Amino acid sequence: MSLPPVAGHDQLRRLLANAATSGGLPQSVLLRGAPGIGKQRLALWLAAVLQCERQTGCGECRSCRLASELQHPDIHWYFPLERPKRVAANKLREKLEEARLTELVARRAEPLRRLAEDAPTGLHLGTIENLRQRAIRRPAMGPRTVFIVGRAEQMVSQQASQEAANALLKLLEEPPEDVHIFLTSSRPGALLPTVRSRVLSIRVLPLADEEVAAFLDAETDIGTEGAHRTARLAQGSIGRALQIVAGEEDGYDDAERLLRVALSGKRADRLGYSLSLSARGARGGFLRALEATGELMRDQLALATGNAESALDIERARRLSPEPLDAEALLAGLESLEHAKLAAAGNVNPQAVSASLLGELAVALAPDRT
Ligand SMILES: [Zn+2]
Repeated sequence: MSLPPVAGHDQLRRLLANAATSGGLPQSVLLRGAPGIGKQRLALWLAAVLQCERQTGCGECRSCRLASELQHPDIHWYFPLERPKRVAANKLREKLEEARLTELVARRAEPLRRLAEDAPTGLHLGTIENLRQRAIRRPAMGPRTVFIVGRAEQMVSQQASQEAANALLKLLEEPPEDVHIFLTSSRPGALLPTVRSRVLSIRVLPLADEEVAAFLDAETDIGTEGAHRTARLAQGSIGRALQIVAGEEDGYDDAERLLRVALSGKRADRLGYSLSLSARGARGGFLRALEATGELMRDQLALATGNAESALDIERARRLSPEPLDAEALLAGLESLEHAKLAAAGNVNPQAVSASLLGELAVALAPDRT
C-alpha cells in the first residue's frame, strides 16, 4: 500500500519544495499546528522531495516510490510508542526499535491507521538514542538521511522524561552534514525551549472543509454527502474526521462545542447543535460527549473557585471561558447534565436530550444572553 496523497497545504508545499530544491531548507525544522491536520504526512512528503532523484518529489522515481511505501532506507519515521513491558533495562532500546518497526509494518498495510489517542505513549530516551545512533551512520542509498519525529512534545511526557529531549537536543545542535530532522507537534509549547530554539518553526494551518471532504470521499467509504457532513465537524483536521468516521471521538471536542453553544445564548446555535447529532448516529459518542462535558464543567468550577491547579485541562478551560463562570450556575448546570446522562442512557433520542440540556445550560450559564 502507498501513503494517501497529501491533502491541501498547497502554498506551504510550494514554499518548502522551493527551499528543499534550492538547498535553502534548514536541517532542523518543526512543523507545528492543530492535531490531525497532516503535519507528519507533510514531513514525510518533504522527506520524499529531498530524496527524489529529480529533486522534485516526482512520485515516479525509485526513491519516491520507496518513500510512498514507507520503505525508503534513508527516511526514518519516529513516533511515540507504548513503553514495552517487563523488559530488562539493557534490552529496552532494542525492544523500542522492534516496536517501532512493527508499527511501521502496520502503517504500510493500513496507512490511515491511528494509535488510540489515550494510549499511554511516549518518545522514550531509548528511541531517541536509537535515532542518534542511526544519524551518525552514512545514508544507505542517497546523499542524505531524513528523520521525522512525530508528536515531538511527547519527548517530555511523564513516561519519557526530559532525558529524551536532551538527547535529541545534542543532535539538533550539531547535526551531521547529511542529516535532516523534521519534528512535528500540536503542542510546541511543551517542547523544551532549547529544542525550539534549534529548529525553524513553521506553522501548518488547518485544512479547508472542502479539502477534508475530498480526502474522506477518496479514502473512506462514507460517500460524498457523508464526507461533507463530517468535514464540517472536523475543523480542518483529517485526523479528527477519521475519528468521527470511526465513531471514536473521545468526546472532549464535542463537549467543548456543546458548552460554547450554551454560552453563546443563541437559540439557533443550540438547535443547530442538536440537529447535527443525528448525523453522528452512534449513541456511545453522545454519552462520551456528555461525560466529557461534565469534566469540562468541573474544570470551570475549579477556575471559578480559585483551584486552577486541580483542573484536568487548564488550557482548554481558559480557551472556553477566559473569565471564570459563576460557580452556582455551574453547579446547577452539572445537575442538569446528570439528568441528561440518565435520559441518554435510557434511550431517549440524543437530539431531544441535547436540546433540553442546552436550554437549561444556557439559562444557568448565560442568563443575560438568553
Ligand atoms: Zn522522485
